Amino acid sequence: MKQLTLSAVLTSRDNQPVKSQRKPAPRTYLDNRVTKSQRENKRTRSQRARERLQTKEHLTQLAVGLGEVELADKLQRCHSRLSVLTCGRHIARIIPNFTCEFRLCPDCGRRRSRKLQNKYLPIMRGFMLHRKVTPVHLVLTQTHRKENRKQSAKRIKDAFKRLHRNSFFKEHFKGGTWSLEFTKDKNGLHHTHLHIIGFRRRFFDIELLRGEWLTATGDSHVLHLKQIKDIATGLREVVKYVSKPLDIRRFGAEDLREFLNLKNMRMFGTFGEFRDFCKDFEPSDNDAAAVGDLESLARDLVEGCACPQCSQPLFDLRMSGKELPQFYEQVESSPPDKVGTSWN
Ligand SMILES: [Zn+2]
Ligand SMILES: [Zn+2]
Repeated sequence: MKQLTLSAVLTSRDNQPVKSQRKPAPRTYLDNRVTKSQRENKRTRSQRARERLQTKEHLTQLAVGLGEVELADKLQRCHSRLSVLTCGRHIARIIPNFTCEFRLCPDCGRRRSRKLQNKYLPIMRGFMLHRKVTPVHLVLTQTHRKENRKQSAKRIKDAFKRLHRNSFFKEHFKGGTWSLEFTKDKNGLHHTHLHIIGFRRRFFDIELLRGEWLTATGDSHVLHLKQIKDIATGLREVVKYVSKPLDIRRFGAEDLREFLNLKNMRMFGTFGEFRDFCKDFEPSDNDAAAVGDLESLARDLVEGCACPQCSQPLFDLRMSGKELPQFYEQVESSPPDKVGTSWN
């Protein structure tokens, strides 16, 4: 259990022992989270690429240990050969030879969270415009029990279903999105949170919402709420749990086994009026531009096209996945006024 000690430090911030139910919520939780994500954003692309390689290596080892040979093989092949469309100073596009689509794969997770952002950002903007709602980030927590990851996730999702279907919630929110985050403490207890982007139609006393959450869960009133100033940032914050459900480098073989058993569990979803709005939403051609997703816009670029950032001709550079961090380093050392791709 040694590999879980560090994550325990992170989860202990939102401890909520059953016996002190009415204790005020620790206010530090979201602040810590924000600081942590800002710290993550400060890491360079080469550092992050290197971390993804380490995570994949670690997952592969665990898979081998569990006798999951096919999974280990897929992980090793995923993003192992790359075709990089570059002018030498900017990266316009990266095409991998193979994607494993395994839920915990950091490369596939990144692609998945980018897809979610591209899909939902235009819808959210449209929804906010038409329904005159303001987005908030709501974090819902529950008490710890001796249960497995699946049970823990089901318990909080069921409680949330009860919450968002009640009249208080419907009166104040017009739906939104949810995503699951998993952490585990040093005693092996699961801390499962729900991150909600809620579209608020009117203000309310936070204590009332705490009361409603207590009714829905039966034993937890702990939640955190903050206004989302920029919906693109808010959405990015929330979908990152879809790509990175927890710190996999501290994962043990048992954690991987548990995750393999979660195969069909949904980690992200929509609810309420927002859910219906998504069904009717017609995406326009300008959505990728509105989202600022250079990668989607770069989809049509081929060798010989002009680099979108400096107009120099692009060429196709073949490399192994292991060489990518080094290439990023080279790109990062280009003159600062010339650097600035969407890659993160
Ligand atoms: Zn993958
Ligand atoms: Zn360029």
